[in-house]
Amino acid sequence: MTEPLVTVDVHTHIGQHGVHVHDPLASDEVAAWGKVSWDVDLDEHAQAATAAGHSIVLAFDAEPVGVVVDNEYVAETVAGHDNLIGFASVNPTRKDARDRLVYAVENLKLRGLKLGPTYQHFHAHDARALALLEVANEYRLPIIWHQGTTFTPAAIAEYARPLDLDLVARRFPDLPMVIAHCGHPWAEEAASVIRRHPNMYMDVSALDTRPWQFAQSLASAFEYRVFDKLLFGSDFPFSTVQQCIDGLRNGARICRELGIAPITDRDIDALCARDSLTLLGLK
Ligand SMILES: [Zn+2]
Repeated sequence: MTEPLVTVDVHTHIGQHGVHVHDPLASDEVAAWGKVSWDVDLDEHAQAATAAGHSIVLAFDAEPVGVVVDNEYVAETVAGHDNLIGFASVNPTRKDARDRLVYAVENLKLRGLKLGPTYQHFHAHDARALALLEVANEYRLPIIWHQGTTFTPAAIAEYARPLDLDLVARRFPDLPMVIAHCGHPWAEEAASVIRRHPNMYMDVSALDTRPWQFAQSLASAFEYRVFDKLLFGSDFPFSTVQQCIDGLRNGARICRELGIAPITDRDIDALCARDSLTLLGLK
């Protein structure tokens, strides 16, 4: 049994092409990246998850872009695996959104909520979204927000800004929230938002393919003094724990060598060791 490389991976996906992942997102993935990466074999996910002590597994209710990784599937996948923590996803625009979230928590035992306004076609300030967040707040469900850009033209880019979450955080100050991917490409904006709110964090997933952006994201977190609010995430299957660690070390090296920020390997070690489950109230 090998030692995990990181304490918690807050951002992993499951879902199979043709079952959960359809067009337009699937064909847009081919156009942007040359293949459909979002096609996860559960054995591969289980193997990848051995690189982390615990891994959060995300549902994704994003019909407008052709993706529905349903809450039941996530619940079945994590059942019996102490290292896997399932997060629900509910599109707030659904008429039965409240009931779906209550069911996901009470019956399926899912422990957080994944939202992606750009993919789900709602604005974070929409009354329907705030109503769903009331439910999340009652259960203290941590929320992972995809608040950043995406390749698919089927998404609505103007719903993707990290700044949109400031109002949400003011309204729900006790709700733990994570901005995924450091809010790419708006890492400075994301850092400026999370530093205002004690329960806000951002994850470093899916940045390793862009070394310069990754370095800038780390530098922004450092400059805004929120480096201790960076949570480790891989965005499997789009990246792996090891690729993300390599990207973090490379980003830190770029920051040092260019004299941007003195981020050390020990800072990266601390990030990898961060106990995100405790920070998100999941222990
Ligand atoms: Zn993701």
